[in-house]
Amino acid sequence: MHRRQRPAPPDAALDAIRAAVGAKGVINREDAAPFLSEWRGRWPGEAALIVCPASTQEVAAVVKICAAHDVAITPQGGNTGLVGGQIPFGDEILLSLKRMRGIRDIEPLNNTMTVDAGLTLAEAQGAAQEAGRLFPLSIGSEGSCQIGGVISTNAGGVNVLRYGNTRELVLGLEAVLPSGDIWNGLKRLRKDNTGYDIKQLLIGGEGTLGIVTAAVLKLFPLPQEKVTVCAGVSSAADAVALLSHAQGATGGAATSFELMARICLDLALKHIAGTRDPLSKPHPFYVLMEFSSGRKSGLRPAVEDMLAGALEAGMIADAVIAESEAQTQGLWRIRHSISEAINGEGLGARHDVSVATSDIPVFLEKAGAAVARIAPGARVVAFGHIGDGNVHYDVVGPEGADPHHLDDKRAAIETAVYDVIGAFDGSISAEHGVGRHRRDSLAKRKSAVELEMMRAIKSALDPKGLMNPGKML
Ligand SMILES: Cc1cc2nc3c(=O)[nH]c(=O)nc-3n(C[C@H](O)[C@H](O)[C@H](O)COP(=O)(O)OP(=O)(O)OC[C@H]3O[C@@H](n4cnc5c(N)ncnc54)[C@H](O)[C@@H]3O)c2cc1C
Repeated sequence: MHRRQRPAPPDAALDAIRAAVGAKGVINREDAAPFLSEWRGRWPGEAALIVCPASTQEVAAVVKICAAHDVAITPQGGNTGLVGGQIPFGDEILLSLKRMRGIRDIEPLNNTMTVDAGLTLAEAQGAAQEAGRLFPLSIGSEGSCQIGGVISTNAGGVNVLRYGNTRELVLGLEAVLPSGDIWNGLKRLRKDNTGYDIKQLLIGGEGTLGIVTAAVLKLFPLPQEKVTVCAGVSSAADAVALLSHAQGATGGAATSFELMARICLDLALKHIAGTRDPLSKPHPFYVLMEFSSGRKSGLRPAVEDMLAGALEAGMIADAVIAESEAQTQGLWRIRHSISEAINGEGLGARHDVSVATSDIPVFLEKAGAAVARIAPGARVVAFGHIGDGNVHYDVVGPEGADPHHLDDKRAAIETAVYDVIGAFDGSISAEHGVGRHRRDSLAKRKSAVELEMMRAIKSALDPKGLMNPGKML
């Protein structure tokens, strides 16, 4: 992965940046490592300087200095991104939002909450809950990822089926633009048709158009009853049919609908302490479903009726309803630990793709055949948010193989999987973003017209190309 080299930032610029954030805002060399390596250890980074401003004004001061001296910036949130977007190449400064963790206000009557970008997602969820409201975004990394990070990647997660992606959960934004100007777009409006919706460019912008410093988030009523079910099914087609049946039979009460191939459970049971097989016999696929309702009762019988109907129709082979919070957590622990469990088998080839939900069974078939042609014996670990058509399609070497077994086949596997995705008019990055990882694939697979529009937006807002260069475009 290459990009145009820039001259090293001049000392005068670095000194001015240090002065702008003060001693507390500068990370020393010996503390730099956690900022420069990411979750899978795939893209080791380098930075000319790492700074953690404490306020929007400090972020603006840093960006103004960078703009004046042509110094590039990589914004970083919780550093949980899976495509290397938050890791600098070496001649940028790294700007971490970790010190900006304030909650500016919570307004239950408006169902809104205004927070700083460095607040972790778990902290935002907790603050909403204390105010008697739900902030529904939920992803496996929620203890570490930040509001600015989930906005910049338009994170998805397990509740998209009911509440939408991050894009649907943001009403307003504050951002520091590449010029160093502060844009205050912290509106709490649900209707505002006054021209281009600028915040939507920054949502999913991966730090290439500016630095998100605060956001107005949408809140919802807290669910009063929840039911969690794990069902064994014999095929992905049955899982897709079950989704439609479950939504119909419960009045659309499903908030999560997660598919896991059997191998996901095998790897979780092997690598993750404390996980347990949820059903007495193995099944080719499992569906983890969560239903929720704003009423205190009535949901459980509806879910039981739905399951009885699914059993009778042969859509499911077996199912368990969680009877306690501990059992619920146990089921979700399996789902949330799959990525970590796969790491235990080596890097392999990882994909985060989407197709129309009804295309998932045929996609799995065709992609499986393509992978088998390139890497006979490789194991496909498919799981994900099937309710959103999103499959994490990971491929690891044969059982017991060297962790680097697929290294020389990774590129060919990726091309083959993306070709299948192309045939379904799907997406090569459903929720993780583009970053470094998918930059070149994106350039090959987006239409010339679409790439031209993206480049026009980039050069209008960031004419010097200082914001997260070498990522996405
Ligand atoms: C175990 C695990 C499970 C995960 N599960 C999911 C999942 O279910 N769904 C999902 O969508 N993702 C998931 N992810 C991916 C990741 O957590 C998300 O992409 C998350 O949104 C990244 O947030 P972050 O704060 O860590 O951002 P970072 O990793 O620090 O940065 C990500 C990108 O955003 C930019 N950025 C960060 N903060 C800002 C800011 N304030 N302003 C401008 N740009 C910024 C960075 O430059 C980078 O390009 C998972 C990751 C892990 C490790």
